[in-house]
Amino acid sequence: MTYSLLREIDYLLAPRGCAGCLQPDCVLCHTCQQQLDRWVERDFPSSLICLGALFSCARYQGPVRHAILTWKDHGDREVTQYFASALARLILRTLRVTGVSPDNPLVLIPAPSSRSSLRERGWYPMRELCTQLAALLSSYGFHVHVCCALHQKRGSHKSVTGSVRQRQSKSRTYQINRRQLQFLFDAQALCSPSLSLSSSSSPSSGSSSQSLSRSPFVMVIDDICTTGSTVVGCIRSLRQAGVPVHAAFTLASVSG
Ligand SMILES: [Zn+2]
Repeated sequence: MTYSLLREIDYLLAPRGCAGCLQPDCVLCHTCQQQLDRWVERDFPSSLICLGALFSCARYQGPVRHAILTWKDHGDREVTQYFASALARLILRTLRVTGVSPDNPLVLIPAPSSRSSLRERGWYPMRELCTQLAALLSSYGFHVHVCCALHQKRGSHKSVTGSVRQRQSKSRTYQINRRQLQFLFDAQALCSPSLSLSSSSSPSSGSSSQSLSRSPFVMVIDDICTTGSTVVGCIRSLRQAGVPVHAAFTLASVSG
């Protein structure tokens, strides 16, 4: 029996409610969808992220928080398309403001889940989200690549002590999947033969439009930004591997 058939039977027996507010007979109601367009911007050092900020669809509270927890921890995969749409709206607006055009290949790098989370959940929510996000951005003429280049090191755990600044400075590093990066290099070469990754590794030098000319626009995507230590760890690991990160986006931000 297929998953979709089982889901259909489950729906007939117990019609679902909104993942955010439990309103009956919908996946994510219109009101909760609107909550995902209350964009939040948090300052990050431009030496770390080219755009000097992390962008989130909304604050991590109320229906948004409930919907993300339902999606991630309870496997409510029907919500993925709504999260992908919300992120697409935010990213398209950011690309427009930054002057990134479809000439620039887009690279989406999902933040990694821990091995234990993958085992417990049985799926990788961020990869699924990025795959649907890539499809949406492609429909706007962008060449989009999802690159799962990051993995958590065995035995690494989130830091839970110290101030936000201390936690960011002690952010963990991630293992780099070289094969995924090779795919990234190959894909970039296909899209832009004259492209050199190192050409955009110093975002602080020159104007953003100049440094981004035809080069790939690399984005780290995560679900929630709490202290920022996960995003910072992702970016530092990628930079050490020679991949500059231009922007970071999350579904929600705890503060900012
Ligand atoms: Zn709702």
